[in-house]
Amino acid sequence: MKIIVTEKIADKGIELLQNTPGVEVVVYRELKREELLDVIDQYDAMIVRSVTKVDEELYKRATKLKVVGRAGNGVDNIEMDGATKRGIIVVNTPESNIVSAAEMTIALMLASARNMVKGHNLLMAGEWGRTGLRGSEMLHKTLGIIGLGRIGALVTARMQAFGMKVIAFDPYITDARFKKFGVEKCETLKELLQKADIISIHTPKTEETINIITKEELALCKKGVRIVNCARGGLINEEDLYEAIREGIVASAGIDVLKDEPHAISPLIQLPQCVLTPHIGADTDEAQDNVGVTIAREVLSALKGEMVANAVNLPTLHPHDLEDMKTYLQLGEYLGKFYYQMEKNIVEKVEVIYQGEIAEMETEMVTRAILKGLFEPILKERVNYVNAALAASGRGIDVLESKMTANEKRFSMITLKISGKDGAFTVSGTVLGQNEIRIVEINGYEFDVTPAQYMLVARNQDKPGMIGQIGTLLGASRINIANMQVSRNNKEGAAMMFMSVDSEVAKETLNLLQGIDGITQVNLVKL
Ligand code: NAD
Repeated sequence: MKIIVTEKIADKGIELLQNTPGVEVVVYRELKREELLDVIDQYDAMIVRSVTKVDEELYKRATKLKVVGRAGNGVDNIEMDGATKRGIIVVNTPESNIVSAAEMTIALMLASARNMVKGHNLLMAGEWGRTGLRGSEMLHKTLGIIGLGRIGALVTARMQAFGMKVIAFDPYITDARFKKFGVEKCETLKELLQKADIISIHTPKTEETINIITKEELALCKKGVRIVNCARGGLINEEDLYEAIREGIVASAGIDVLKDEPHAISPLIQLPQCVLTPHIGADTDEAQDNVGVTIAREVLSALKGEMVANAVNLPTLHPHDLEDMKTYLQLGEYLGKFYYQMEKNIVEKVEVIYQGEIAEMETEMVTRAILKGLFEPILKERVNYVNAALAASGRGIDVLESKMTANEKRFSMITLKISGKDGAFTVSGTVLGQNEIRIVEINGYEFDVTPAQYMLVARNQDKPGMIGQIGTLLGASRINIANMQVSRNNKEGAAMMFMSVDSEVAKETLNLLQGIDGITQVNLVKL
């Protein structure tokens, strides 16, 4: 694998790439556009910062390119559609600085609630005194988090350790995420404003969040509320916050980001109740090293075909959720792989039914895994998590997801139902414990089998002697059966046999099996 690094990243990241067997790294601190275009066809992956333009012109020449790594956050220099349609994964490192930002948030929260800068300034001026420096504790206070994303969740966990009750407003996340972090969900921003003693904002800067807190919102807050913004300048209206502090509605504010950065212009700078810093939330040694190491790791994982938490052209999965979801992603791929290895009917509709615990999770990625598994037997490595949804829509296939949170057996189950003009096919699976995958149903026949690399699925008449004949024939072909289960449909007098075998089954053997009297269909399913 060849990786080109076109801009400066931390040495630790470069070392990681260089020390990976089978990887050749070419590092540039600066590279002219024409030179890059001339050599890009040799590379499997590229790592850029914000200067290198990754666009259609580059993609057309980058015939081997599979991964673009952006060391940092923004992806303005990367054309996303061009990458997605070619199945190129774009990864970045939005979480490399999240611990730094969360700790900075807390530093601002405590420093402003305890008048630290005011006290420090008095001492620096040679004065000793406590007048006007009394602060307030965090214990038993209510912290209102706006935006329960990565940083919001880190701040939550840390402030819960201070004994705070945490409530949050975030209309874009599932109830499961609130539950997971032990946070009380606020249905509206108004509810949060009315309940919180301290408010900390952690949303991105979007049309909707610019001025999310103005004088109208501040008027709804408890008198003496404290406010922290370590997210983006402009989310809180600085003039309105200034007035609210002057009027005593807001007791203090901790602010790392300003509307007019990089200029030190804001009415808040005048106020002793404010602790202000010049956007240094991400500015730690660890965060800078993390960016380099993380992008190196992610690019290597993506090249190996593993799931990456921060793929920009994939549905968002928080790193914690990714850990919980890994086995379901695997199950999804397995379920998807059955269809084209067992059926020929042209697919018109794919329905994925999630039941039980999995239905409460963010399942979009599992559906992608199913589609990836579905198309792999026919598209091979040209399909991946990035372009699997496009592969479905490009074939005119409708993809539907439905969720049932409770099922009578009380465990998570995923059912894949594929319909075409000649009928429907179903396959279902579950995960037992942490990571034991089971296939529990195929076309209405119930099983409890662990999927294996080679599986034989036989449909046959439900009559004596079938198992023996199959076993004898496979034995004669020197194929060892590792596991076998039979499931029957009494009404139709039909049965299905599911066998894990230790090796590949040749076409001739499949034809012989198919020729056994009473066998209606035999398929080899490979994972
Ligand atoms: P994230 O994407 O993980 O989380 C953002 C959350 O905000 C998401 O859960 C989203 O659903 C929610 N959200 C979006 N619109 C909303 C709305 N209208 N109301 C309520 N919630 C809404 O982002 P993150 O990594 O946690 O970063 C949070 C913020 O911190 C970003 O603005 C980021 O740029 C900023 N940041 C600042 C520094 C710094 O140096 N001060 C460092 C890192 C990140």
